[in-house]
Amino acid sequence: MPNFFTDNPDLLFHFDHLELEEVVALIEHDYEQAAVFSDAPTDYQDALHNYREVLTLAGQIAGDFIAPRAAQVDLEGNRLEDDRVIYATGIREALDRLGQAELMGVTLPRRYGGLNFPTTIYIMAIEMISRADASLMNIYGLQDIAETINRFGNDAQREQFLPQFASGACTGAMVLTEPDAGSDLQAVKLQAYEDAQGGWRLRGVKRFITNGCGDILLVLARSEPGSKDGRGLSLFVCSSDETVKVRRLEHKLGIHGSPTCELQFNDTPAQLVGKRKFGLIKYVMDLMNGARLGVAAQALGIAQAAYEEALRYARARRQFGQVIANLPVVANMLIDMRVLLESNRSLLYAVAQWVDRRDKYTEHAARLRERGEPSAEASERAKQATQVAALLTPLVKYVLSEAANKITYDALQIHGGAGYMREFAIERLTRDARVTNIYEGTSQLQIVAAAGPVMKDLLAAHFAAAEAKDYKGHLMGLADKLKEIRRLFLDSREAVVGKGDKAFEEVAARELVDLYGYLFVGYLLLEQAQLDGRKVFIAKRYIVSALAEARKRAELVTGDNFADVIHADKILV
Ligand SMILES: Cc1cc2nc3c(=O)[nH]c(=O)nc-3n(C[C@H](O)[C@H](O)[C@H](O)COP(=O)(O)OP(=O)(O)OC[C@H]3O[C@@H](n4cnc5c(N)ncnc54)[C@H](O)[C@@H]3O)c2cc1C
Repeated sequence: MPNFFTDNPDLLFHFDHLELEEVVALIEHDYEQAAVFSDAPTDYQDALHNYREVLTLAGQIAGDFIAPRAAQVDLEGNRLEDDRVIYATGIREALDRLGQAELMGVTLPRRYGGLNFPTTIYIMAIEMISRADASLMNIYGLQDIAETINRFGNDAQREQFLPQFASGACTGAMVLTEPDAGSDLQAVKLQAYEDAQGGWRLRGVKRFITNGCGDILLVLARSEPGSKDGRGLSLFVCSSDETVKVRRLEHKLGIHGSPTCELQFNDTPAQLVGKRKFGLIKYVMDLMNGARLGVAAQALGIAQAAYEEALRYARARRQFGQVIANLPVVANMLIDMRVLLESNRSLLYAVAQWVDRRDKYTEHAARLRERGEPSAEASERAKQATQVAALLTPLVKYVLSEAANKITYDALQIHGGAGYMREFAIERLTRDARVTNIYEGTSQLQIVAAAGPVMKDLLAAHFAAAEAKDYKGHLMGLADKLKEIRRLFLDSREAVVGKGDKAFEEVAARELVDLYGYLFVGYLLLEQAQLDGRKVFIAKRYIVSALAEARKRAELVTGDNFADVIHADKILV
């Protein structure tokens, strides 16, 4: 019986090295919840035990139930019949199965029927579900909507919507994009207006909406007539009814089990979430950051599946009198994939834990303020964690989604001609990976989001502390290489600042963000190499390749390679 939790030693490694003791104590209000809820843990070890049990169950459902249906889901896709979307059979069955297993509402509070788990554990579940079927994850991952209602909605909205998400009785959609508002959501036009009774109504069109046929929709709309930018937008929640029409289902390259809808709102009754005019600048940014972490986990799940397919194929396929896994070139490709996979997982779970810290420190500081207790220190920690999460979230989405494309590409290559055929899962995985660096903001937009804190060298103190550490044996040489990457980063940043040219800075941002990513991940792997001998291989190959890449990136920036962008009109004939 395949179990995507217990069969994955690297995922177990990260589970075994979680550093969530403080976060869990905050989530559980110092374990006082145990007196109220029978399923609440009594201490950290008890909480970890619960998380392990739930992840083992999720891993079993992913491996045993969802994965075997994925190929058929891809073939069958969804249908639009009489304005209703009919899910592929395997998607419907999987959603029911996850609901029955009480695996919905993972991060929601217990009083609404949720599991009250940290985001990190939810992200582990997302990784496994995506490995089984990336398209199902799109619907499962839309639980983020419930999280936004929980955070910014009022009590009545929480009571109305959250139990439905937690029980699996409903699904949702995140309704932002319009034909003329994609990366630039400030251009959203869909109109929100108040009717004669003072209730809100929505009118207009949205496109590319994942699970737009869902029961509960979070909609970004223009509530301030005459406004042109993000400050005129508010967030609304509505139940799907006869006023919401699915006008078409997109025919897509991949994730066929995930319905992508064009929606028309015909004076749909809706409720305002939070405060007017804060829709984009606060609530959607928060929603999208949660979803970006989910897409990073989705990308990793797809990459894991692709790696498994490539390894299995390479160990079975014989050419030149031997299995191709024994050919040094193929073995080398597989090792590159494995290193990328493990480095990506290290980044993902480091970021997920920062997101948990941000959320729980912020809630804790707010609780102290409400109780009139001293909160300055807690607020400062919340602020720091917020800044770190704001840098690392776009970074992880960018790095992991690009890596998923690279890993699926190489995994298909290892299959040779067979990989191009529909009979092999790698063909589907390659198509599914392609969207991960497009939705929830393209890679280019993730770089824009990460570039500000990178230019400010937000993690300077973190890197200085890492450089000051004493590494033993082989690891000393690797630590020196990371110091060189740090120098290359600082030189490149100086070159960009010195130039004082906005266009140059925008183009060079990719190289600077990449350099920062190499450093952050390099130090994570160096730490892990101290805990586990096998990880030394991973750290070594990652850091040696990262240094080679870093030299190239720095050369591109300091060597003035991008100056020709201003002549684009002449070059692009
Ligand atoms: C399968 C699928 C599911 C989706 N699901 C949802 C959903 O559930 N809800 C939802 O609201 N939306 C959804 N989307 C929409 C998705 O988020 C957008 O497609 C995405 O944000 C890009 O917007 P766009 O397609 O309009 O591209 P554009 O914004 O037109 O971008 C085109 C190109 O220009 C680049 N570009 C644009 N601006 C900049 C910039 N400032 N700097 C550098 N480069 C830039 C982009 O990187 C891209 O390469 C989905 C899309 C797809 C494909």
